[in-house]
Amino acid sequence: MSEVMEREASAGTHSGKFDAIVVGGGLGGLYALHRLRRLGLKAKAFEAGSGVGGTWFWNRYPGARCDVESLEYSYAFDNDLQQEWHWPERYGNQSEILQYINHVADRFDLRKDVQLNTRVTAADFDRGRNIWTVKTDKGDVVTAPFCIMATGNLSTPRVPDFKGIERFKGKWYHTGLWPHEGVDFTGLRVGAIGTGSSGVQMIPIVARQAKHLHVFQRTANFSLPARNGPMDLEIEARHKAEYTDRRAAAYDTPFGIAGFPPPTKSALDATPEEREAQYEAKWAEGGSISFLYSYTDILVNKASNDTASEFVRNKIRGIVKDPVTAELLAPKDHPIGTKRLCLDTNYYETYNRDNVTLVNARATPIEEITENGLRTADGTEYEFDAIVFATGFDAMTGALKEIDIRVGNGPALAEKWEGGPTTYLGLMVAGFPNMFTITGPGSPSVKTQMIVAIEQHMDWIADCLGTMRQRGMARIEPTPDAERDWVQHVNDVADSTLYPLANSWYVGANIPGKPRVFMPYVGGFAGYKKKCDAVAANGYEGFSMSK
Ligand code: NAP
Repeated sequence: MSEVMEREASAGTHSGKFDAIVVGGGLGGLYALHRLRRLGLKAKAFEAGSGVGGTWFWNRYPGARCDVESLEYSYAFDNDLQQEWHWPERYGNQSEILQYINHVADRFDLRKDVQLNTRVTAADFDRGRNIWTVKTDKGDVVTAPFCIMATGNLSTPRVPDFKGIERFKGKWYHTGLWPHEGVDFTGLRVGAIGTGSSGVQMIPIVARQAKHLHVFQRTANFSLPARNGPMDLEIEARHKAEYTDRRAAAYDTPFGIAGFPPPTKSALDATPEEREAQYEAKWAEGGSISFLYSYTDILVNKASNDTASEFVRNKIRGIVKDPVTAELLAPKDHPIGTKRLCLDTNYYETYNRDNVTLVNARATPIEEITENGLRTADGTEYEFDAIVFATGFDAMTGALKEIDIRVGNGPALAEKWEGGPTTYLGLMVAGFPNMFTITGPGSPSVKTQMIVAIEQHMDWIADCLGTMRQRGMARIEPTPDAERDWVQHVNDVADSTLYPLANSWYVGANIPGKPRVFMPYVGGFAGYKKKCDAVAANGYEGFSMSK
């Protein structure tokens, strides 16, 4: 296959030889370009969207906002950048974050190396020459010794396979593929399916516009108040004065964010009154890390977790006036924090509106989409002008598996991963030399502040490429043993926590037929970074390098 591709490369109009190909023009891909350039390497990125920004380019649904605070959710690699950028609110919304990413692309002159509107379809490695040949849907065929997959973790939107969707006469949308011109729901009858982070952010805003909003909830999720608001300028000034130290300190924390004093005792060592006061203070403060940091064992001890879960359930019961709706919204099937904790602004309050109805899509699943709306299993017909799918993504592996990644005649990556993703450190896959994954499965990625994770990965990769160049090495790949041991470790760590008790996208539970494997590394960012550093210091232990 690679010979054919090579011929096309020499014959085609879009060809080229590079030192590295980057797949993706989001936060990961842009930093990869910047870092490769600093190494003196010639790199090119392909991006499917018509603009840079990745997640923040696509997810334009009403209310889309980061749930990591804006002073944290930004690049750390350039002090002038972090000092000069001003975030208007405690949490950045989609358009502010996209504006920031575009600013970075311009400021560091990255656009010239990003080819937009281009989706990578195939990548093939030739072991004889240590060269990746990468193909795109626009007919490009380019080559490079290294390939860096910055394809994102939540970048393959998923609409469930509901029967009849093509018949629907109204308009339907997915939160992860939102029209750029926006959608006005004023006066419309709207059905919203899904109550994860996207749904929880979007529902209060659509409710304010729609004539009536029906929310179809299959699983109730825990959500905490974000307490968003205008940036406190004193906090901003203090944060900026400490930026360098805070960024360094972030590397020593489990989530990649400094400034949260670690808890010191078990929830079970506190009296009920102390616990109530503690949780109440965290609820008032806003944010998820702070809440989960109330006690040492919320994510590892079910009895401790029950105290936090029940506190939030009682909050829901206190906010939502209709007791039946409140009980339906109160999550009981998973411990708090084991599915991605949502942050909201007036989510539960929204169910007190006369124009909002919660439908139990667990008891009466959606059976099919009809011409005029949808029908649930009990035969009820709902009529809608618009349906919004907040139904999530084929997380962590979806985007990589869509690319036909092969090494000669060997199995495709998608085939290798049929039983679940396997990586060494979430950075490389055994049998796929010279291909790095940024924040790949098996790394802390989605369990951290993503930009810290991206920078740590790309810095490690850049150091590795620099070392290879120094030593005259042309090929690197993990050994099968190192990969097997790391996968085992990722699973052992997850099994020592409460995470596996939830049917979450962390285990692929949202995709029918997807193998149940715990994908992110939940052992904490600090320990993970130490492990990556030690691997490099020990001569890239677990990797084999060759000339
Ligand atoms: P999600 O968490 O996977 O939620 C998808 C929702 O759709 C779930 O409620 C799911 O129910 C429901 N659903 C799926 N198929 C369904 C069906 N056939 N019938 C009824 N309901 C169905 O997706 P998401 O909300 O887009 O969030 C994904 C991740 O993106 C988040 O966890 C977070 O990491 C990230 N995100 C972050 C932010 C932020 O920073 N603020 C915002 C948005 C997203 P079940 O739970 O029963 O499967």
